[in-house]
Amino acid sequence: MKMLRKTIVSLTMLAISGASAVAAELTNAQRDAAITFTLNNTRHTLLHEIGHMFVDQLALPVLGKEEDAVDTFATLVMLEESTPASIEGLVDTMDGWVYTDRQTPRRGYSNSDFYGMHSLDIQRSFAMACLMVAHDYDGFTWLATRVGLPHDRQETCVEDLRLARNGWRDVLAPHVRDDYSPNRKVSVVYRNHDETYDEIVAILKQNRILENTADWLRKSYVLPRPVRLTAEECGQVNAFYDPSTREVILCYEWADYFFELFVNDVMPVRERFALIRELKLEKMER
Ligand SMILES: [Zn+2]
Repeated sequence: MKMLRKTIVSLTMLAISGASAVAAELTNAQRDAAITFTLNNTRHTLLHEIGHMFVDQLALPVLGKEEDAVDTFATLVMLEESTPASIEGLVDTMDGWVYTDRQTPRRGYSNSDFYGMHSLDIQRSFAMACLMVAHDYDGFTWLATRVGLPHDRQETCVEDLRLARNGWRDVLAPHVRDDYSPNRKVSVVYRNHDETYDEIVAILKQNRILENTADWLRKSYVLPRPVRLTAEECGQVNAFYDPSTREVILCYEWADYFFELFVNDVMPVRERFALIRELKLEKMER
């Protein structure tokens, strides 16, 4: 049987288009914000695929849907860090699912949405909000409320977080690296790409998103075999874990999609809210 590649989404997402045309019209601050949003979503995706790699390479038990479990893993890693950057990363990733869901055609769901391996984008955003609000109620109740998670559900999320944390902690415990000795078991590769993705490749390389994730992996866990984090042009908007090559693959199209999503959909809304906040503050100061 052919070993199945584990993906981040079930279908090729939307039309692929280069970010360069849009990027040219951005101010420096807007471009920086788009890059941050792209890298934040990319990091959560890499962690999601690393979750699949752990399940495969460490032969972890999975109780329930693997796609949900590895989404949870990615969110837990960033929650446990609890740095301003990782928290911003979670907010951006949650928004990534919220805005992707809004691009879904509104003619209703089809059966394939329900029998697919992945939960719906909107469920993935709720699941993230649930873990976040359980981790820090005062810090994230505004966010969970904003995505539409009612307060009674926000309160029961404590149990979701407890089970998720204990489950992942216990199955990974035998594989945690306690003495940091650098090893070469995690490599990073950038493969060829069309010039459409020159800018995205430069952004990924400059910010060392794959390299930093590989460092974290080397420092944190002991893996039985070498693994690779690869960035490449895939011909679709996606990311994969390929068990036959033990490779996490980030498609340039995936990062490009989030850059475009930010510029076209997220940024206008965030800028409008920032303006409203400013106007309110001015009013209060008068
Ligand atoms: Zn997946």
